[in-house]
Amino acid sequence: MGKLLIVGTVAFDAIETPFGKTDKILGGAATYIGLSASQFDVQSAIVSVVGDDFPQEYIDLLKNKNIDTSSLEVVKGGKTFFWKGKYHNDLNSRDTLVTELNTLADFNPVVPNDFKDADVVMLGNLHPNVQMSVIDQMTKRPKLVILDTMNFWMDNTLDELMKVIKHTDVITINDEEARQLTNEYSLVKAAGKIQEMGPKYVVIKKGEHGALLFNEDNVFFAPALPLEEVFDPTGAGDTFAGGFSGYLAATENTSFNNIKNAVIHGSNLASFCVERFGTERMQNLDKDEVNRRMLQFKALTQFDIEIQ
Ligand code: AMP
Repeated sequence: MGKLLIVGTVAFDAIETPFGKTDKILGGAATYIGLSASQFDVQSAIVSVVGDDFPQEYIDLLKNKNIDTSSLEVVKGGKTFFWKGKYHNDLNSRDTLVTELNTLADFNPVVPNDFKDADVVMLGNLHPNVQMSVIDQMTKRPKLVILDTMNFWMDNTLDELMKVIKHTDVITINDEEARQLTNEYSLVKAAGKIQEMGPKYVVIKKGEHGALLFNEDNVFFAPALPLEEVFDPTGAGDTFAGGFSGYLAATENTSFNNIKNAVIHGSNLASFCVERFGTERMQNLDKDEVNRRMLQFKALTQFDIEIQ
């Protein structure tokens, strides 16, 4: 069983979609990553911070998924990171209405001793200085450092982000962000430029249009499963990252072929996340449902053709 170290926000989210809205509910990149990765046989830990307004039942929920929360710092008198977003009618785009960093503003992450030799480090969306500090605390070079980030950090902390990108093996990023980071419209060119910045593997997420994996001259595409019901896309990217990193930590194999499989696992799990608000669907997902959907996935993309 491999070790997976997860860094990212543990948060309160308020979400509005065309189907309804929620008050503050459990959210955060690390939360979605942890829930998704818990589908695999991995030893995982979350490094993050919350305030003492964060309910113990949410921490217990993560613990019950076998996630080590000893490095989830609870700041006395502090407030938990809060994000509020509103989706447009197509559900593919959203506006961020509020981002309150709160306790995250001056967070000094501490990697648990047991995880300083983790096989896979999943740097979820968070301040790049926090991500870098986690890399610096590792006593052994991880087999894979995977980075997820977003436009917020490109807009506000680009220099710090570029430093983290340099130390990364795999970056997962959405199409809009890949374009912003490189000033290239073509995703092929953008992926090429990102590889020059550090990561050997570039995963570009395209929401309901699937995900692309680039490595040197190799390209692989995984569609998103066409779903009847999409309620809330929040966390789909992080759930993808959780499935991707969880699978790679569990299999401890970083060949291109296995990274392709990781893209499929990530896409499969993300397809569940969007079916309910917030983390609801991911909280009670069982292995049989996941396996059944994987078969649907296989059928969706399999074809037999003879070249004339
Ligand atoms: P996703 O839909 O995959 O982009 O992830 C949504 C999650 O990211 C939400 O649960 C938010 O709490 C979290 N989030 C939103 N903005 C930020 C930010 N600037 N940094 C870190 N996490 C964020």
